[in-house]
Amino acid sequence: MALLDARGTFFEPARTAFPGADEADWARAALLDPGAAGPGGAWRLDFRCFAVARPGGRWVLVDAGVGPADGPAAGWAPVPGRLPTALAEAGIDPADVETVVLTHLHEDHAGWTSGPGGEPFFPAARHVVQRAEVAALDRADPVREWTVAPLRARGQLHEVDGMHRLAQGLTLLPTPGHTPGHQSVLVEQGPAGRDVLITGDALVHAVQLGNPAVPYSHERDRPTARASREHLLSRAARHGALLATSHLTRAFVEPPAPEEPGRRAAEAASDPAR
Ligand SMILES: [Zn+2]
Repeated sequence: MALLDARGTFFEPARTAFPGADEADWARAALLDPGAAGPGGAWRLDFRCFAVARPGGRWVLVDAGVGPADGPAAGWAPVPGRLPTALAEAGIDPADVETVVLTHLHEDHAGWTSGPGGEPFFPAARHVVQRAEVAALDRADPVREWTVAPLRARGQLHEVDGMHRLAQGLTLLPTPGHTPGHQSVLVEQGPAGRDVLITGDALVHAVQLGNPAVPYSHERDRPTARASREHLLSRAARHGALLATSHLTRAFVEPPAPEEPGRRAAEAASDPAR
């Protein structure tokens, strides 16, 4: 289930944020995610979390949004987020969230680890993050104070290394590059439905869906990010998995066909019969 926390405009124009994309890449992106193109070249983006139902009325939440008005994302992201309302609308009590997976420790993904008063917003949840991600966090990074320190103090921070089986049908896949310990989440639904790959920020704009070689200006390590993105997209295509994205204005998108990235998805998006 997709939960929209916020919707906004990025602080850089799209063509600054994605250097190296050519006209064909932008044309493809416009078909894949028309909502991302704002006036004057602005990049319009969503800030989204995903909830996965677990047995017994429990939930796994993937990412924790931009957070409240006084959260660490307040300097650039559209705070306050509306995740508390989105959860209520979906019938999800924060106390029933057993696990929060943090794909990475950027401000716009860790905002609701704390509520407006600084207390843990998900009181019973373990928060699962890659150990390499915590280790790479700058000492002055506000997420250290906001997320890592309070969760660690309460025994709610759970650091893992590499690929990790979280639960039946839920696997954490390391996808480094955007940040050193970035991870994505594979949701296997078996006969009940299609598998879903929750990308996190391995993919932040449709221009990288049409052409995974296009870098994002705020990736920590561009070659590694590109390799992770290509690997993730080809894995999704091979297994027939849908992609679930944080920042596209469409929550779920088809992966591009493996032999020709971008083509099939672009055609599907532009075909009125589908
Ligand atoms: Zn992000």
